[in-house]
Amino acid sequence: MKTVYMDNNATTRVDPQVLDAMLPFFSERYGNPSSIHLFGGQISEALVRAREQVAALLGADPSEILFTSCGTESDNTAIRGTLRSYPEKHHIVTTRVEHPAVLTLCKELVREGYSVTELPVDRQGELDLDQLRESITPYTAIVSVMYANNETGVIFPVEEIAGVVHEKGAIFHCDAVQAVGKVPIDMQKSRIDLLSLSGHKLHASKGIGALYVRKGTRFRPFLIGGHQEHGRRGGTENVPAIIGLGRACELAAEHMGEENGRIRALRDRLERGLLEAVPHAYVNGHPDHRLPNTTNISFEYIEGEGILLLMSREGIAASSGSACTSGSLEPSHVLRAMGVPYTCAHGSIRFSLSRFNTEEEIDYVLEKLPPIIQRLREFSPYWNKKETFSAT
Ligand code: PLP
Repeated sequence: MKTVYMDNNATTRVDPQVLDAMLPFFSERYGNPSSIHLFGGQISEALVRAREQVAALLGADPSEILFTSCGTESDNTAIRGTLRSYPEKHHIVTTRVEHPAVLTLCKELVREGYSVTELPVDRQGELDLDQLRESITPYTAIVSVMYANNETGVIFPVEEIAGVVHEKGAIFHCDAVQAVGKVPIDMQKSRIDLLSLSGHKLHASKGIGALYVRKGTRFRPFLIGGHQEHGRRGGTENVPAIIGLGRACELAAEHMGEENGRIRALRDRLERGLLEAVPHAYVNGHPDHRLPNTTNISFEYIEGEGILLLMSREGIAASSGSACTSGSLEPSHVLRAMGVPYTCAHGSIRFSLSRFNTEEEIDYVLEKLPPIIQRLREFSPYWNKKETFSAT
């Protein structure tokens, strides 16, 4: 069966060049980088190189890069580490549209006695910076705001946010898991203190992430154990995955400009084609302040799960809500925070593209999806009484 993968915000295919770079580190070069014998020595040199490659993509110094196991660990390390570094402060500011890696942690922190402010967003998924400024108090240790939203692709003005956060004397953590490798990021020009990324979102493998920690930022480890990562994270390094992340970052830097233009054009064609072919279809999120690879479209009056299932039968993979929450019929917390009417929120589908998508795949989706929507609507009680239910 023909397959079309448009769920790259959930995870990406490991680039064949990344896999090639990783493979020797499973077989010949299997030493522990902490060992002082020759098996260890050759690995620690490779780790130095990988750290430089990750740092180069971010315009950072290699000493500012800490390898972790995933984006979730990077987020937990940043937030918990900062709270432990500022024991006199007990307040966290974040937004209602963060990934569960931040939001669920914040709920746990509330149970532990911290207070959390979750900032709202408007209908296009954007933040009010005055509200952000007002929410930060002398007791705010950290503000954690994502770079780009995983469901809608909406990009927040993170540099302006960093300015506001510093003006008020707090630390700024940015979950850039969806942005790294998709948009240029230069930590030399940036004022972000801590920034999370995840390998499997940029064609490296699963099981590897990184946290950028700006020089001079107070830091306490999250995983406590051995002296790895200069005492900042215990645990033997996931060497093959780290080598892969380094190569993936190098490839992302090489391809960013050219790839982005092509992927954006594909995304725009898919979006335009679907909006033209399907009535009562709407794009969620700001039309311009968005990742070039993502579109989130609501097909009113039907369930996203039904659409996904029928698309999957045609070999097309996309997602409704975030991958972590699909399986429940609750509409996505992101769309609810944006005030998307429930007749639309239930039928929302996220298409997220990568460098491996082609024009031909866009044609295939444009051919297969509109009849699926039509078929599902024929069975929808809401569609048949849409005048009663319309909320748009
Ligand atoms: N933050 C964002 C914005 C994400 O999209 C994700 C994953 O979807 C994560 C954090 C968690 O990353 P990981 O799957 O590497 O733990």
